[in-house]
Amino acid sequence: MTYSEQWDLESIFTGGIDSPALTQRLATITAQITPLLATVRAWQYAKDQPKFTVMTQITEQLQMLEAGLKQTDSFVNMIQSTDERNPQVMPMMGRINALGNSVNQIEVALTKKLVGLTEVEFASLVATPALQIIKFNLTEKRTSGATLLDATTEKLINQFALDGLKGWSDHYDSIVAEVQVPDGQTLLSAGQAQNKFESDPDPKVRQRIFKSWYQTWERYSPLLTDTLNHLAGFRLTEYQAHGTTDYLKKPLETSRMQSATLKTMWAVVSQNKAPLVAFLKRKAALMGKTQLAWYDTWAPVVVGDFKPQTYTYDEAAAFIVQQFKTFSPQMAAVAQKAFENRWIEAEDRPGKQPGGYMTDLPETNDFRIFMTFDGTPSGVATLAHELGHGFHTMMINDLPSWRQDYAMNVAETASTFAELIVSDATVKAAQSPAAKINLLDQKITNAIDMFMNIHARFLFEERFYAARQKKLQTTAELKALMLVAQKEAYADALTDYDPLFWADKQHFFFDDVSFYNFPYTFGYLFSMGIYAKAQTTPDFEADYIALLRDTANMSTEDLAQKHLSVDLTQPAFWQAAADSIAADVAQFLALTEGYQE
Ligand SMILES: [Zn+2]
Repeated sequence: MTYSEQWDLESIFTGGIDSPALTQRLATITAQITPLLATVRAWQYAKDQPKFTVMTQITEQLQMLEAGLKQTDSFVNMIQSTDERNPQVMPMMGRINALGNSVNQIEVALTKKLVGLTEVEFASLVATPALQIIKFNLTEKRTSGATLLDATTEKLINQFALDGLKGWSDHYDSIVAEVQVPDGQTLLSAGQAQNKFESDPDPKVRQRIFKSWYQTWERYSPLLTDTLNHLAGFRLTEYQAHGTTDYLKKPLETSRMQSATLKTMWAVVSQNKAPLVAFLKRKAALMGKTQLAWYDTWAPVVVGDFKPQTYTYDEAAAFIVQQFKTFSPQMAAVAQKAFENRWIEAEDRPGKQPGGYMTDLPETNDFRIFMTFDGTPSGVATLAHELGHGFHTMMINDLPSWRQDYAMNVAETASTFAELIVSDATVKAAQSPAAKINLLDQKITNAIDMFMNIHARFLFEERFYAARQKKLQTTAELKALMLVAQKEAYADALTDYDPLFWADKQHFFFDDVSFYNFPYTFGYLFSMGIYAKAQTTPDFEADYIALLRDTANMSTEDLAQKHLSVDLTQPAFWQAAADSIAADVAQFLALTEGYQE
């Protein structure tokens, strides 16, 4: 055993949730807020020009405050991830959220100052050498700030949101914490049950657990209907107050993406379902069925006497570092460092939340990864995925905070890229056709998630917001909307669906963002484009890092144009990615020809 599977949080703030250093850091942040707000409010263009020293200080201090909040918030979140029922976590989070709201007031005040400048004044401001590096970010604030209301109203909206938008999102988490799925005499948590019906090799077990899972959510569905309705209702009212009824405006703005790009992406996805339908059909045949059900889509294909390969944590670490090295020595070095310095929490033990994430720590200039490593190839892929996020962080953490603030869609680029490197390597290294089939199955199943599962989420959410604008939705209406979306997204290829997917999937209940779906598909396809380029470009590492460093420095379309020379509003780029998925499917179909039951 070389590497520890438990992360080190002590080097961030010593002493856990009671850490004196944490308390001290929060006190410093608190003390800085009022003076900075006063400075921003008093700021005048005429007095500060031509050097803009005050504005430079304001932007630096505000970014420091935001970094402090990120550092403390990440820390408390991480404690919660491994100690779900720690009673001190919620009050501490409440405190950090309240501070976040105060810092947001400064942000609003600054934005208002920027909005108030003429074009010429703003141009001369951002031409200042010290501000040039954040020109894009300041421009973005000024553009999106045009619809802000007066400071008092904005403050009030943010305060209401704590008990409204955020309150409903927290309420969802509270309900889910109560969810227990019976399986015979045992009670499974929501996460455990999901794992089981998604990955158990026995179709009867999958069906049994899914049935019990569905009945459990059904029982909670009236509460979840209320929660979703009010969460969306709050959001729509807020949008309206800021002059829009377009519920996709904010998500697209957050992703720094044009509507044309989103439409083109989904159009290409819709036109390329056929190979995936063929894959699902073959997978069903390999499992002795004519058609798969919703809960079968993730199940592993096992042919012959093949036993899936398992990895110890150390083996996974060595494999990942080795594969990263073939593409980028710097990527390998970051991964190595993360393993050695205990930046990863991977142990399989009770009390941990499900899922995985990477969180960056701007004040210690590092990151942490949370996950539960199970030794499967998909566990290795998840580890590589999170390390890809970590690499992104390490390549940009010398830049100003705002330049590190990349959007959700490109956030999944570095991670998916890292995952692709490792999953491709495992397919290539497979010793037998049976092993190759198993790994290709996983790779294509990932494509199914992006082209079908995520597409269903988007179709549902779009139609739900349109319907919610007119009236509150009933449970029956939500179920019907979801069923239609799933049938469309899966091209009618399944026997059973999950009409309660809107209730059992946390993503529909996030308070900070809506439409947390299209960025996944975007990031997946975008990283495939980068991966394709990596295989044909010598010295790709430098290009790749340059791209990562621009991820919070321009629109998504400009990023693709500058670093990949492609136009995202046109189908060609997306089609190339879809073609590479089709090639994987063709390989899978050829390999499995003789195995059908
Ligand atoms: Zn990710």
